[in-house]
Amino acid sequence: MRYYKGFLRVLTLALLVVPALSAQEKAKPTADVRFSADMLDKNIDPCNDFYAYACGKWNTQNPIPADRSAWGRFNELAERGQYIVRDILEKASTDRPGRSVNEQKIGDYYASCMDEAAVEKAGTKPLEHDFQSIAAIHSKPELPKEIVRLHGEGADVLFGFDSGSDFKNASQIIAQVDQGGLGMPDRDYYFKDDEKSVELRKKYVAHVAKMFVLLGDDPGKAEAESKVVMEIETALAKGALDQTSRRDPQKIYHKLSSQELAALSPEFNFTQYFDGVGAPPFNSLNVVEPDFVKNMQAVIDAHSLDDWKTYLRWHAVHASAPYLPAAFVNENFDFFGKTLQGTKELRPRWKRCVGYANNDLGEVIGQVYVRQTFGAEGKERTLAMVAALEKALGEDIQSVSWMDADTKAQSMVKLHAITNRIGYPDKWRDYSALQIERGDALGNSQRANQNDLQYRLKKIGTPLDKRDWPYPPMTVNATYDPTQNNITFPAGILQTPFYDNRADNALNFGGIGAVIGHELTHGFDDEGSQFDAEGNLRDWWTASDKKQFEERTSCIKDQYANFVAVDDLKLNGKLTLGENTADNGGVRVAYMALLSTFAGKEPAPIDGLTAEQRFFLGFANVWCQNQTNAMSRMLVTLDPHSPGKYRVNGTVSNMPEFREAYHCAATAPMVNQNACRVW
Ligand SMILES: [Zn+2]
Repeated sequence: MRYYKGFLRVLTLALLVVPALSAQEKAKPTADVRFSADMLDKNIDPCNDFYAYACGKWNTQNPIPADRSAWGRFNELAERGQYIVRDILEKASTDRPGRSVNEQKIGDYYASCMDEAAVEKAGTKPLEHDFQSIAAIHSKPELPKEIVRLHGEGADVLFGFDSGSDFKNASQIIAQVDQGGLGMPDRDYYFKDDEKSVELRKKYVAHVAKMFVLLGDDPGKAEAESKVVMEIETALAKGALDQTSRRDPQKIYHKLSSQELAALSPEFNFTQYFDGVGAPPFNSLNVVEPDFVKNMQAVIDAHSLDDWKTYLRWHAVHASAPYLPAAFVNENFDFFGKTLQGTKELRPRWKRCVGYANNDLGEVIGQVYVRQTFGAEGKERTLAMVAALEKALGEDIQSVSWMDADTKAQSMVKLHAITNRIGYPDKWRDYSALQIERGDALGNSQRANQNDLQYRLKKIGTPLDKRDWPYPPMTVNATYDPTQNNITFPAGILQTPFYDNRADNALNFGGIGAVIGHELTHGFDDEGSQFDAEGNLRDWWTASDKKQFEERTSCIKDQYANFVAVDDLKLNGKLTLGENTADNGGVRVAYMALLSTFAGKEPAPIDGLTAEQRFFLGFANVWCQNQTNAMSRMLVTLDPHSPGKYRVNGTVSNMPEFREAYHCAATAPMVNQNACRVW
């Protein structure tokens, strides 16, 4: 399954939220998701639990739909987008003369995906060429050729290969070899020894075996094969870095020559792989984790060719499962949806197909989506807010007591160099080489993946083009990219409840304003602060300011490490540090920006709520969410973001401005006695 497609990069973009693992949506679009004072739980004292006060009622009224593992206000918004996209796809899918080239692509892609009867009839035939090719491998030196083929189809086998910014020369795109080849979401899943993790591994092995049975293997053979898969994946995982380490740019940047890479893994012919996969020639690359490659060679040596064929066959069927007959789809959902995420039901087919189409043809669909939903006014007003937030962050930087003049000046240079991408790309991606055939659901997806890979690999050795977007415009998210020093706000997020043309400034600054502040602050969190104004990994801090900075971030790390995610499982303070820092800084600068709009005159209260109170409600409101326990457990390992409850309560409890707005007693739970502040 190509989870996180488009987000799979060495340095994870500083997102606002983790993208839904599967874009499943509930049955009906929500008519209106605007904030109103009726949504507040008046039985709760905001000074005791602000999240419960702002979200408790919403949470009760919006249980998790059966086909989801989490449901929040982000999802409501994404769901409205799904209906718009379905409409676009259905219109394009009518095979009629005069369809444009783009209509043919998105329409036939969607029609093929929706044609369940054809998918059932084809059975596993579309996979036969994969299996024949794997069966025909005669020796280990032939592995690179087969990995080339499977990577092209979108299977995550052995390792990852992509293009990306050179951390120390950010204007250049270079090749990068990364860890990969696992079926479960992360290396930690293979090693954690608590009861639930041990149980999960057993279920994973059982799932792998069932998939082999569905392919026609007898149960005894399938069981043995599933053990081989688990052994190989566990051995590969040993060389992989965990998610917390991967947030440290120093740990994921190792620029090596091609010869040095070859020396790490002498018997796996990388040159043959690079040529085969279609990469332009290069002499050096980022080997994200050299120990992973070294270990990979040892794992290749330690297992027989037959074992490797089993491993490859598993990943071929695993990657294709969503496009195969119902038996495969259901078995795949049973483990990855039900067991892993606690989702009760598979989402309806059309919602899955909309999700796959968004993944595979995002910028084709995006062109129509933007025409239908995003006016010039939205772009202008957002730009004005970004300018207000940048100004507030500048004032905030100038006012902090712990930085000296030198570091402040460097920070201002970086702040002023941040560029903005609002709404949609100025230049759309070209999909003309991609062939979409009606009636070939799996083939379409595989060709789309190949097209995507070639698009990314072609960039190797070329200058960075900041006009390229990391995801399509209907995405409900926002990002900061430290290697480009830019922020991205797609059309998808520039709507209620984040941004509402009809709402007062207080709500909008608490909503989209805090999001803009959050993204800007990422340039100055524990990770972003290691990159300079041009996006280069370079230390521009004085030693004493760095020490002060680290003392302050360490306060946030300890604060959030005490929050309970689920059962007795606490948040990982280090993994979530950057996001928590961005939440805290973002809300503060958005608040400053709001005050500056008052021009000395306090606005009249609305519904009995002051502008300051409404600001904090606008912020809390976007984080209302429900989540299954299984999902909460999974996200503690994977997600650098804290759950909504702590994004809200953790942040406001650090702010004297909040205490004042709600007249909280000094000892109230929402007043952190050891208040943390970085920005
Ligand atoms: Zn973020």
